[in-house]
Amino acid sequence: MKKVNSLRKFPRNNHPINEDGDYVLYWMSINRRLQYNYALELAVGYANKLDKPLLIYEGLSCDIPWACDRFHQFLIEGMAETDTFCRDNGISYYSYIEKEPEEGAGLVESLAKNACVIIADEYPVYIIRPYNRLMARKVNVPYITVDSNGIIPLNLTEKAPYSAYIFRKIMQKHFLNCFQNGPAENPLDDLQNRSGVSLSEKHLKQWPDAAPLYEDIPATVASLHINHQVKSLAMKGTRAYALQQMNQFLENKLNDYHEKRNDPDEGAASGLSPWLHYGKISEYEVVLAALRRQPRDWSYDDITFNKGQRDGFFNGNPNVEAFLDELITWREVGFHFCHHVHNYDKYESLPDWALQTLEEHSMDERQYVYSFEELENAQTHDPIWNAAQRQLVRDGIIQNYLRMLWGKKVLEWTPDPRTALEYLIELNNKYAIDGRDPNSYSGIFWIFGRFDRAWGPERPIYGKVRYMTSDSTAKKIKLKSYLREYASS
Ligand SMILES: Cc1cc2nc3c(=O)[nH]c(=O)nc-3n(C[C@H](O)[C@H](O)[C@H](O)COP(=O)(O)OP(=O)(O)OC[C@H]3O[C@@H](n4cnc5c(N)ncnc54)[C@H](O)[C@@H]3O)c2cc1C
Repeated sequence: MKKVNSLRKFPRNNHPINEDGDYVLYWMSINRRLQYNYALELAVGYANKLDKPLLIYEGLSCDIPWACDRFHQFLIEGMAETDTFCRDNGISYYSYIEKEPEEGAGLVESLAKNACVIIADEYPVYIIRPYNRLMARKVNVPYITVDSNGIIPLNLTEKAPYSAYIFRKIMQKHFLNCFQNGPAENPLDDLQNRSGVSLSEKHLKQWPDAAPLYEDIPATVASLHINHQVKSLAMKGTRAYALQQMNQFLENKLNDYHEKRNDPDEGAASGLSPWLHYGKISEYEVVLAALRRQPRDWSYDDITFNKGQRDGFFNGNPNVEAFLDELITWREVGFHFCHHVHNYDKYESLPDWALQTLEEHSMDERQYVYSFEELENAQTHDPIWNAAQRQLVRDGIIQNYLRMLWGKKVLEWTPDPRTALEYLIELNNKYAIDGRDPNSYSGIFWIFGRFDRAWGPERPIYGKVRYMTSDSTAKKIKLKSYLREYASS
């Protein structure tokens, strides 16, 4: 079999290495962590081979889509933590926070001039993919993106998986090989040349290091030219917070996951999606930690290829099995899909059967039609939907089962499916702290039939697309305290 980790490397241009450069540059744009990170591992490898120091650069622009207090505060908290770690450990780390649009233009190109080679993060959605393409053309040194997103390298699939079942089959076949070629826990431990990098005066004058801005993060966030209406959250965007969240989940909730994950009142899910999204924690380390919760006599030999069936693959604790199915299969099917399908965020990317049935029902009469503002302000007739929307606006998240209902009702209450899709992308990505992720598009497009099949009987508006009602949701899951908590804004 092809070496798994070579599948993670994407050389984006053909420039030769600049042997006279001052450093190897790692541009950390989405997998914002110094542990379990293949990209950083490769950057350290180049630095050692060339006997050069390593410069890690992390930036934050203010004119990126949906920039607001919520996302910026979360990201800046993480950057501050990384800054402290690097100072304490003699690692050259430079971070920059743009205060006004365009102020940061030219920064990466400027860093590239003194670099031998640039390593950056591979990511299939949002602004990262177009930025990578653009930067690879602009610089005169090799620009290599590295996929540190999941267990199964994006390049291992040859085409988009159209269902979780298809992807699970591929995952089951390759899991052990990929997992056993996992990333190093602390790649920086191997860095040999620690002479440090000093940036030019001119450079720092134009783009001052962000370190002083970490002293008062709320004040920094308030000073940025971003949307201040979407408020910051109590959760912290640090790796320390993510690890604490993971450990508490494994300790206290994992054993209820299978049975209670869907009940908002139980809160049995991990809550890890925000840190997975910003890459503060790696999926690999969460899988590793979850597998340590298998029964004592469990071993990797118990893993059995099960033809894409959900159960009977890991074979141990059913809660671990259920959690890892979400974390690996459901998380990664979306990454692989977006990697192969470049119009992943467009209505036309839906499967043919869904496009056809939605079209046939697009003129069906709607009992309720709400405007974007009415939805945003949770002004519908449905208390469960309003509670979910309030949770999204207030807490930046909706519990998974309700997220499905929330999306299905927008399809039902808008003039046509294209409008529904537009509203859902906007609501999700504006407020959800885990939004703008491949999983955002998996979840939203699932509402319209992606990764699903046709269902009968055919219904008004939905056609053959799966249907959900608030009444059946209320019967199926425990909601009492949830509805009390989100009864008003
Ligand atoms: C309309 C809609 C919109 C969604 N938007 C997002 C989004 O913006 N960002 C996002 O990360 N997820 C999104 N999801 C998927 C899912 O709701 C969340 O991943 C999950 O609720 C996160 O909570 P958790 O971390 O406690 O999950 P857990 O149940 O603890 O699962 C662990 C991890 O597995 C992955 N996962 C779990 N369920 C799913 C799923 N159904 N699809 C894909 N991956 C999954 C996530 O990475 C999650 O963090 C959306 C789903 C729907 C229906």
